[in-house]
This record gives sequence, structure tokens and C-alpha cells, in this order.
Amino acid sequence: MEKCDVLVIGGGAAGCTAALKASKSGLKTVLIEKGRPETGRKIDVTQDNKVDGIIRELGLKPAHRSNRSRWLSRNHHFDLESKISDLFWVRGDEDALDMQAERAAADKGCEIIHGGEISSVRLGENGYDEVVVNRKGKELAYKPGFIIAADGWASGARRLAFPHITHTEGPHFSGVGIIAKDLDLEEGVTHIYFDEEHIPGGYVYAANAGGNCFIASALPVHRMGGKTPGYYFRNFMEHAAHGRKIFGKNAKVLGSFHGGSRCVRLNKHAHRNLLVTGDAAGLLDPFLGYGVNHAIFSGYWAAEMCRKFSPLEVADQYNNLVARELMPGIRQGETARRIFDRLSNHDLDRLFSFVHHVSKHTDLDSFFDNPLISPVALGRAMLNRPDSLLLLRHLHQII
Ligand SMILES: Cc1cc2nc3c(=O)[nH]c(=O)nc-3n(C[C@H](O)[C@H](O)[C@H](O)COP(=O)(O)OP(=O)(O)OC[C@H]3O[C@@H](n4cnc5c(N)ncnc54)[C@H](O)[C@@H]3O)c2cc1C
Repeated sequence: MEKCDVLVIGGGAAGCTAALKASKSGLKTVLIEKGRPETGRKIDVTQDNKVDGIIRELGLKPAHRSNRSRWLSRNHHFDLESKISDLFWVRGDEDALDMQAERAAADKGCEIIHGGEISSVRLGENGYDEVVVNRKGKELAYKPGFIIAADGWASGARRLAFPHITHTEGPHFSGVGIIAKDLDLEEGVTHIYFDEEHIPGGYVYAANAGGNCFIASALPVHRMGGKTPGYYFRNFMEHAAHGRKIFGKNAKVLGSFHGGSRCVRLNKHAHRNLLVTGDAAGLLDPFLGYGVNHAIFSGYWAAEMCRKFSPLEVADQYNNLVARELMPGIRQGETARRIFDRLSNHDLDRLFSFVHHVSKHTDLDSFFDNPLISPVALGRAMLNRPDSLLLLRHLHQII
């Protein structure tokens, strides 16, 4: 049986970040990846608020950064110039986040096992002490000091090791998109479109990020009425005024992608010496379906805690960190999802027009951070727009 300090299961954003951090810290690390799913070449967007320090420390480079975004309903929009950048990562080629991190981890001595899948995890008296990996019909047995489970939302590691930890299912997102060229989009401004008629409960994201143009849609499956995500994407591109505009006469499709992920809510994120990260831990924003940020953050901190704490202490430390740093944002996302699931296009127009109005009186970035820090500006904006009181009452009823 091979001994290692840290065994990482899954080589996505969470697992590769964890493997890189652990091997950089001098821990003997093994990464098991069963074979990355084929999604097609796509662009991931994530924000830098929690991860900028981490990616700089680990030497990971996004393809592009941008601070400007435009949020659009059917007839209104507001612009946001933020201190927090959007980071763009190209998935499906050499510069993908997981590929960069995996290469760097291998350089630091991490053993990478491709084509391996865990078949059992044993819980002994002192914690999880044996993992059996099946690779092309051959069994490899490991005796790890710590296990980091990073095997995505359908996590087998979570089920094998955590049968006693309860989880509830949240929204399931499904999306498709295209990589294109010559879209009618201002370079460096990310565009997020909400349109209840064409993309119910979801959104379309489009950007021209340093020459990488893409349009992606994401919808919660419970709003899709049995239709495919491709149906809604085409619906938006062909029938919504915004869709027709972005994809003007000169645009060309270079490739397409698809995928899905599911939000799960666990009552704990670690047990004994096994820490669950990224989508496997349900660390996915239930509003937009974003998870790369949480994957990087949880992967990094799981590895750091394996360095700092004993197997007896590590679970409490990691559970506290996730509860403190990530769960408040996820709960906010749950509220936003509940609200957006019940807004009509008319409500969205009123909301976006109101936020646009607020932007004339106050800095939107600080306003979104904490609307209470600028009560005077907010009060002034509301007095100037009496319909905003109706809007707030409507939102309050929904919450
Ligand atoms: C269409 C689509 C678009 C998205 N766009 C964005 C976006 O723009 N921004 C954003 O922040 N998030 C986005 N997300 C969500 C984001 O992709 C995930 O939250 C993120 O990839 C989670 O990373 P992870 O490492 O936890 O899991 P994953 O990326 O799912 O990686 C898990 C890895 O584990 C491997 N694995 C699984 N089982 C085993 C096993 N038994 N043994 C070994 N290996 C195993 C898999 O092959 C996979 O490589 C999107 C998701 C979809 C589906």
C-alpha cells in the first residue's frame, strides 16, 4: 500500500488547486483524475474577491481580467465598474485553470494518476485510512494522511465516505454556449442578460474578453418545462432583441459547449481527515451557478489545513472556515434565486431601471457591498422615484 500525506480525488479546479498548494507546501501528494468530462472549449468567468491572492501565490494566470459589466433586462440596463474583476479562464485547452495547476503540481512532485477512479474508502479507528483506486482494471491502494474530495457535484467520494452526512438538493443548472468571433460586443465589458420569456429563471452571459468571444446560457432545470437548454439558447439568440443584436451579420461560431451542475447543501463539509471541496461540497452559487471561485478557495484552504492541523483537528477547522467564509454568500445566492424565480420581465425592467437610477446617486459597487452604508444616497434615489417603493414592497413580499 502506498503512503502519502494528501490524496486528492478529482482534477477539476478544486482538486488541482488543492494538489498544487499541498505539493508546494512539501506534502507528498497524489492526485487521481478519472478523465475530464468533454464539455468543449469554453470560457469560465469567476470573480477575484476571494481568490486573487491565491491565484497570484500559486502562479496561475487567467486569460483575461475585466472590471466592467453591463446588466440588462429587456428594456433597461445598469453598468457596474467594480473593484472586483471578472477573471476569464479558457476551459478545454492548455491554459485551462486545472491544466495550469496540474502541470505546476507535477513540477512540485505531485504524483498524477489519470484514468483512475476510487472504488472504496475505508474508515478506520483513526480516520479514513485506505483508498482503493481502480485504474484500467488494476487496483491501487493508498494510505493517506488526509483525503481531499474534489470529484464534482455527483461526488462518489462524498457518498462512499459520508453516508451519515445529510445533504439536500438545490437547483440543477444546465447550460450551453458558443465560442464565436466578431460579436457585436464592446471589448472588456461582460454582458449579463435576464429575460424571463426567452431564458426563464436563467441568464445569458456574453463577453469579448481579450479576443475570446463567447455567449453562454444557464438555466435552472426546474424552470425548463422539459425542454433542452439548447432550445432556450436558440430562443434567446433568434427571438430576443438582445440576442439578435449581439450575433450580428459578421459573427461566426467557432465551437460549442454544454454542461450541467447541481447545488447540494451538506450539513458538514469535513469528517475526520476527509475534506470535501468545490462542487462535491455543494459550494456552487444557487443564483448564477458559479462555482470556480469556491472551488479554488476551498481547494486551497483544504490543502493549507492539511499542512497546519492534525487529522484530529482538521475537520472542525475546515467546517468552521467554510461556514464563515463561503456559506453566507451561498445563502445570499439562495435568496436571489428565490426572488429571480418569481420576477416577470416587467419586474426585471423596474428593478434594472431602479438600480440604474441609484447608480446616478451613489457608487454601485459599494451599494451592492452593503446598501446600508449609503442610506442617504439610497433615500434620495427612492424619493426621486416613487415607483421604487412599490418595487421594494413587491420584493419584500417575495422574500
Ligand atoms: C455549462 C457550465 C458553465 C459554467 N460556467 C461557470 C462560470 O462561468 N463560472 C463559474 O464560476 N462556474 C461555472 N460553472 C460551474 C463550474 O464549472 C463548477 O462549479 C466548477 O468547475 C467546480 O469545480 P470542481 O473542481 O469542484 O468540480 P469539477 O470541475 O466537476 O471537477 C471534478 C473532477 O473530478 C473528476 N472525477 C469525478 N469523479 C471522480 C472519481 N470517482 N475519481 C476521480 N476523479 C473523478 C472529474 O472527471 C472532474 O475532472 C459552470 C458549469 C457548467 C456546467
